[in-house]
Amino acid sequence: MRMAARVGSRVMVQLGPKPTVAYIVDLLPRLRTGTSLVESEIKDIQELLDVDPPLTPEVLELTRWVADYYSAPWGEVLRAALPAGINASVEQAIAITDQGRELLKSQLSVETGGVKWRGLQLLGNEGEIEIGAFVTRMGSARIPKWLRELENDGLVSRSYRTRSLQTRAKRRRAVRLIRSLTDEDARVSKAQLRVVETLSASQEEMPIADLVRAADVSESAIRTLIKRGVVQEFEVELRRDPLGTAELPDAEDLKLTDAQEAVRRKIDLKIRSNQFAPVLLHGVTGSGKTEVYIRAMRAALAINRGAMMLVPEIALTPILSRRLRAHFGDEIAIFHSSLSKGERFDEWSRLRSGAARVVLGTRSAVFAPVKNLGVIIIDEEQDASYRQEESPFYHARDSGIVRAQKESAVVVLGTATPSLESFHNAQAGKYEYLRLPDRIANRPLARAELIDMREVFKSRKKPAVFSDELLTAIEQTHARGEQTIILLNRRGYSSFILCRSCGESIECPNCDVTLTYHRSDSILVCHYCNYRQRSPSQCPNCTSKYIYYVGEGTEQIEEILRRRFPSLRIGRIDRDTKSRRHEFEQTLLDFGRGEIDLLVGTQMLAKGHDFHNVTLVGVVSVDAGLALPDFRAAERTFQLITQVAGRAGRGNLPGRVLIQTYHPDHYALKHATKQDYQGFYDEEIRHRRNHGYPPFVALALFLVRNKDAARARSIAQELRNHLNQANRDHACRILGPAPAPFARLRGDYRIQLLMKSRSRKQMRAVIDQALKNFEEAGNDARSVTLEIDPVSMM
Ligand code: ADP
Ligand code: ZN
Ligand code: ZN
Repeated sequence: MRMAARVGSRVMVQLGPKPTVAYIVDLLPRLRTGTSLVESEIKDIQELLDVDPPLTPEVLELTRWVADYYSAPWGEVLRAALPAGINASVEQAIAITDQGRELLKSQLSVETGGVKWRGLQLLGNEGEIEIGAFVTRMGSARIPKWLRELENDGLVSRSYRTRSLQTRAKRRRAVRLIRSLTDEDARVSKAQLRVVETLSASQEEMPIADLVRAADVSESAIRTLIKRGVVQEFEVELRRDPLGTAELPDAEDLKLTDAQEAVRRKIDLKIRSNQFAPVLLHGVTGSGKTEVYIRAMRAALAINRGAMMLVPEIALTPILSRRLRAHFGDEIAIFHSSLSKGERFDEWSRLRSGAARVVLGTRSAVFAPVKNLGVIIIDEEQDASYRQEESPFYHARDSGIVRAQKESAVVVLGTATPSLESFHNAQAGKYEYLRLPDRIANRPLARAELIDMREVFKSRKKPAVFSDELLTAIEQTHARGEQTIILLNRRGYSSFILCRSCGESIECPNCDVTLTYHRSDSILVCHYCNYRQRSPSQCPNCTSKYIYYVGEGTEQIEEILRRRFPSLRIGRIDRDTKSRRHEFEQTLLDFGRGEIDLLVGTQMLAKGHDFHNVTLVGVVSVDAGLALPDFRAAERTFQLITQVAGRAGRGNLPGRVLIQTYHPDHYALKHATKQDYQGFYDEEIRHRRNHGYPPFVALALFLVRNKDAARARSIAQELRNHLNQANRDHACRILGPAPAPFARLRGDYRIQLLMKSRSRKQMRAVIDQALKNFEEAGNDARSVTLEIDPVSMM
């Protein structure tokens, strides 16, 4: 056993009452000096779960960094790094003892025939059964009392075991022909003859299930032949291929444009230099970034290094995965969250074994066991979905950059709208800045036009969902045989106030974010600093009484459009349909083939698609996103519009983008319609500097949760006191406690504290100190979660 234990393998250990899965992260001949561990208290390993370690040294190192940086338990990060199905869970099993077997043999029990006896017989037949399965097979709803009696009599015993391998390589039983039939084979049935003939005709091997069908026989005919030694049974490993049945496009070898070629050459040089190099590739939508990514990955393969490409949401880009599969064939593993456990495990195994050297995946693929990584591509680097919004809270882009650094690889951050942080780094010279300023074939960027909904409101005297301008445009687009996307900018959040006359939302005087409306006591609250004011009855800006909450969902929008345009084929994509992966992909593929005229959806429709016949994109209400109580609201809106504009006019037809807003003077909208990134950046970075937001400060966000409101408040206050104490040097600014934007969720009251500091290191020291004292004072740390570098402040 000791011989086989290797760093990176999983083991079973029992620390508490129940054994758990643990990971070997180091092997030491003896305890290090200076550790607080006591030799005699060290537990033995109960079981080694892996012969080949699933965790590579690179992944171990990366996860260790993630755990440390994001202040998360290392084990939790390791679990997140492995494919879901591989993580063994522990189950309780019951087994018959020798004494139990004796009793069964002697059949002396007075209770023979009773349910207890049947239970013992069942165990006698099977030896050991998982307890839940045992209870079910006894036809019982809960663990029967007599089981405890059997245990007390020493007839059965309970133990823990791992239930790992629900996800393992999928196998199928197959047979091969090992000799032909001879005269000595008496009484060969017609069915058996057909089996032998079918096998001879198909390279002498076949899965049993196929053979049954092909030879039109029952399995017993095959069994008989196995017994006679004519055929032999064996198992074949099957690969579950997520794109197994998909039609692949041709892998076109496009001739790169001069701009693409220049960028490609620079990246190629960096890859060849075998050194860490971060690159920001700022290319407008439709500038051909994907082609550059493909070349970069090929360049890595050419010098025998691996490649990784991260995308925000792969279920959204079925076309991209097919395109890459067409390019890289079996060398690419597709690795993302909506795969079945089996598919995921198989793709992961191909990387681990080195059979695949390229991975395409979402967030968690940053931990993929790619060998000898040469390049990491992070497409749409600004996308918020790179952030895991549950523990462990890590950011895949930032983790990817660190991974590239540790493995001396090149990391390419690609985007049409760099995050403020990344562009800031590029300007500071920390990232090499590469640009693709024009669309392929000099296609013009779609013009974005703002439609002032205040005017629409004024002329119609009532709120309208659609302006006449947008409706007319939809009609004309359809008449030309072209397609439309209608987008709703909504995150299921409407508790803020907007004025229909002037378009203003009401902001916190301290924090530069929207105040949140709390209906129950009719007040407006800042969820950063807890500033409060009564909800006004008229707009403080223009004194209009037309204050409203943002509302319509995609379904209503679809309904309105159906009524208005009965002849239009309309499809819808939103959060509800997203959970049904195939339907979702199907809708997108149908739209791509032109079988749908108009697609309605939320912001996810803005990402990455390449539909050549779309010439109109309408954004129904951009204001909902603009008024979110989040300091990134303006940045997100700018990104959204730029991306949306990128969806229109990608083919040979020019595109048009119409954006309905009550706030047409907002700087994010004005710069976005001109596609003026630099203009937006200059203005936004000033706000960030003035109000103290990233990239000028580091942020940390504490969330306190408790079922009891008063308890939640007192825990939060207690935490604040400890933070104050630890912050005696005033290295940090501490805001709150304030109610979280979702002040109550799943029965928990939620209160947050926000920390800002110019020194990440000092902030971390304050946090560690405060949490230590907080716990030592007898507080339960489990009601507090900590997010380092929070992305969504929602
Ligand atoms: P981006 O990712 O920058 O938005 P894409 O990579 O999707 O852009 O490219 C936009 C379109 O241009 C795609 O249809 C792509 O096939 C096409 N394309 C890219 N590079 C070339 C090229 N060198 N020659 C011709 N077409 C190209
Ligand atoms: Zn107003
Ligand atoms: Zn505030």
